Amino acid sequence: DTIQHTGDAKKEHRGGEHSMLAPFTAGWQMKAGVPLVIERGEGVYVWDNKGNKYVDALAGLWCTALGFSEKRLVAAAEKQLNTLPFYHNFWNRTTQPALDLAEQLVDLFTASKMSKVFFCNSGSEANDTQVKLVWYYNNALGRPNKKKFIARQKSYHGSTLVSASLTGLPSLQNGFDLPVSFVLHTDCPHYWRYHLPGESEEDFATRLAENLEKLILKEGPETIAAFIGEPVMGAGGVMPPPKTYWDKVQPILKKYDILLIADEVVCAFGRLGTMFGCDYYGIKPDLVSVAKALSSAYQPIGAVFVSQEIFDAIAKFSDGYGAFGHGFTYSGHPVPCAVSLEALKIYKEIDICAQVNKVIPPFQTGLRQLEKSSIVGEVRGVGLVCAIEFAADKETCEAFPAKWAVGTHFAGQCASRGMLVRVAGDIIMMSPPLIISPSEVDFMVKTAMAAVVETE
Ligand code: PLP
Repeated sequence: DTIQHTGDAKKEHRGGEHSMLAPFTAGWQMKAGVPLVIERGEGVYVWDNKGNKYVDALAGLWCTALGFSEKRLVAAAEKQLNTLPFYHNFWNRTTQPALDLAEQLVDLFTASKMSKVFFCNSGSEANDTQVKLVWYYNNALGRPNKKKFIARQKSYHGSTLVSASLTGLPSLQNGFDLPVSFVLHTDCPHYWRYHLPGESEEDFATRLAENLEKLILKEGPETIAAFIGEPVMGAGGVMPPPKTYWDKVQPILKKYDILLIADEVVCAFGRLGTMFGCDYYGIKPDLVSVAKALSSAYQPIGAVFVSQEIFDAIAKFSDGYGAFGHGFTYSGHPVPCAVSLEALKIYKEIDICAQVNKVIPPFQTGLRQLEKSSIVGEVRGVGLVCAIEFAADKETCEAFPAKWAVGTHFAGQCASRGMLVRVAGDIIMMSPPLIISPSEVDFMVKTAMAAVVETE
């Protein structure tokens, strides 16, 4: 009671402002008072502290694949906490959950052959690790100048120093003095926005592949170490590439001995109706990043998959230094590993891909109906990810004046009808829990339709 009282008095003194420096939140919002407080969850629903119920159309942050009340994940965490709440993986010590999870992930990924898994705590740490691994690998091979990375405009790879440098969104870079100089950004494969007049999707993909090759030749292939890409670009606005995009890009990377890193942080574990985004697009990467749905977000965990060839070179090189000098206290923490093992077990038992494939058609075709609205420029997506982009002109992709805040208005209409969506300017993103039922998809589509009518 006393503590509560002290807290309230302090809050009054600050004019209602809370004490959190909140991620990806505007300064004025942090100052404006109490944000939306989410209190509990069940299935695909969450409730705020005022008792309002919402379908969480983004599954938290594209991550709560099994929804908000999977008791088996809670039991797995509790069992591990009671048995051994923590042990590390440094100096050749480990725990069984970490060993088992690494082995299962290597077996699960079949698009190309992976041999080792490095554990970390997030997608950003996974991608930071990728850069360190690739640099280390090229040093091991005696090619110290082959260090540059190619990423794509509008990609999202995280917000740490290095992963934000890979990211192709100015909003993550403005004002931060990031070490971006080792990163080159090539075209975003978003046909609607970037195709030339009269250009087919196929020709657009060919042009982008040619641009990539020109960039490699201009910089010098001997300086380019790796290309990193999300199978489907997610947080930058959900941009599925043209069908043949990856088929055209991969031979170019092979030709110039450039490693391919698949950032599967959003796509992995069923989001596209395949176990990995690489399976959907026929991508054969050398390295892979995962996080989010690995534990269905019930515990923080990320992982990097490494091919045999890269591991062999790294292992030999590290012997010269006494050890592979990279890792985190919580790399392979036994509790997130135990939860992830249980999540993988559930994905297998309920056949998560079959489950997702059942709801993809009503989700995608249902939301496509919004394209009939005069204020919607494009509805796009694949699997259980979708974006609705508002535009003043469907042909030229011209945006509405920012001050009209069309996206924010639409999201507010959705919230008042019981659905939380992600807003980024005039792009609305949805990526619901993978366990969503056909009737819940129906509710999402109807809610979006009603919200767009209100917004028009
Ligand atoms: N990579 C992709 C494709 C992502 O979508 C994200 C987060 O949304 C990240 C990396 C970063 O993951 P984290 O927020 O766990 O650091």
